[in-house]
Amino acid sequence: MKFANTSDSEIDLLFLSKFIENSEDGFFAFNHDFQLVFWSPVMESLSGIEKSSAIGRNIFELFPVLKEVGEDAYFIQALAGKSWTSKNKQFHLSESEKSGYFDSKYFPILSEQGAVLAGACILRDVTEAKRARQLQQETDTLFQSMADHSPVMLWMAGADSLCNFFNQSWLTFSGRTLEQEWGVGWSEGVHAEDFQRCIDTYMDAFNKRIFFEMEYRLKRADGVYRWILDRGVPRYTPNNTFAGFIGSCVDITERRQIEVELKRAVQIREDFLSIASHELKTPLTSLNLQLGMLAHVIEKSTDQNPIEEQVQNVSEIGRRQLKKLNELIESLLDVSKISAGKMILERSSFDLKPLVGEILNRMDEQLRSAGCEVRINLGEQAAVGAWDRARIEQVAVNLLSNAIKYAPGNPVEIKISVLDDFVAMVVRDHGIGIPLDEQAGIFDKFHRAANARNRGGLGLGLFIVKQIVEAHGGKLGVVSKVNEGSSFTVELPLLRKIV
Ligand code: ADP
Repeated sequence: MKFANTSDSEIDLLFLSKFIENSEDGFFAFNHDFQLVFWSPVMESLSGIEKSSAIGRNIFELFPVLKEVGEDAYFIQALAGKSWTSKNKQFHLSESEKSGYFDSKYFPILSEQGAVLAGACILRDVTEAKRARQLQQETDTLFQSMADHSPVMLWMAGADSLCNFFNQSWLTFSGRTLEQEWGVGWSEGVHAEDFQRCIDTYMDAFNKRIFFEMEYRLKRADGVYRWILDRGVPRYTPNNTFAGFIGSCVDITERRQIEVELKRAVQIREDFLSIASHELKTPLTSLNLQLGMLAHVIEKSTDQNPIEEQVQNVSEIGRRQLKKLNELIESLLDVSKISAGKMILERSSFDLKPLVGEILNRMDEQLRSAGCEVRINLGEQAAVGAWDRARIEQVAVNLLSNAIKYAPGNPVEIKISVLDDFVAMVVRDHGIGIPLDEQAGIFDKFHRAANARNRGGLGLGLFIVKQIVEAHGGKLGVVSKVNEGSSFTVELPLLRKIV
């Protein structure tokens, strides 16, 4: 390439000067007395000192800071023919009030014969880059500290879907190291039953780059699986490049348990309403029928057909239905008293054995018509305690009524044993029994075992019995086998323990 009237060396010089002008780096040169002999335009703007003021000046007088940061050695080296690179040196120029950091490269300018004509330096102002780096470090530290102090478990994954960050809460929860959790290591803690769903949801959201929310069980440091709610969102760099996902997790085990309990409570309420309405309606319907019959009997009565006997029969059945209704309502009232903490015991001291004898006498007719022969073993010793007589009666009547209901046609055994400081009363039947997995539940309100649903009842009797027994400081237990029978044991403290 040729320019008119211009020599090659002139062209080289022209190019060189343009490169120097347009470079981001500053260029300067100095002689053996450290006087500036070249000062590029960029040096003017970097230092705030114009070329006219700089040329001929001693560089160390102009910039005393150079000696302070030890750069003078490199000037000397350059004049001795050696090159040197220096990085990240701090400067403060009092004349122009400029400060910051610079990188520089020193080298000698040699003659064709190899003599050092001058020293030169290429200087780059790295203040902005360093500040940006510092800012980034500060932001990173801030993020790390915020993330680590967050009670929420946080994670981050790169664009390759592999996890590269877990905060301290996560690591404390899992009891594992960052290295163990890295990549796909975290998924080792996911419950086997939730694993595939969890990975599928994660990968699907990742591929589509959309928000996801999922619940799964994750192993805690103590080996217990906890339900986790995990929410992930895609993240992007400032120039909008997909950078992966960031997610947060919270332990929702308690919340899920409450939800399950709430659902159960709603179910129980619905079951109860349908059972209660049926149970309360049955004696009412029967009562209504009896009253209708009574009216009919009165209407049709003649001297040859006296009404007394028929009226007596009807009123007998009617009274029984009313008694049943009364018992159901009493149970409901008892439950509401217990729930409100208003069951007050009226204690007096009495012997359990004669009371049980009285109850058996009173229920004799009922037991007999159910085909339940009673076998009694009351022992010799008196069983005296300070109990609420009416409530203890309620306990015995309830257990015997259940035996009649769930074991008709079979013998019922009652045994009372006086032990060290308590008395144990066992009511044993040979009826339908209670499935093992339902035995704990039968003492809850409204709980009725699956094999008992075709027999009437509100599922309140045993709940009330248990509350009464426990209010006396006693215990209620059951041993049962389906189709073989059930054995309920009531333990009550004897008087000598109370005093
Ligand atoms: P209910 O008899 O009105 O259902 P309970 O509270 O007395 O209510 O009993 C709760 C449940 O326990 C019954 O529904 C039944 O499933 C079971 N159960 C109680 N007693 C017996 C028994 N003697 N034999 C078999 N199951 C019983």
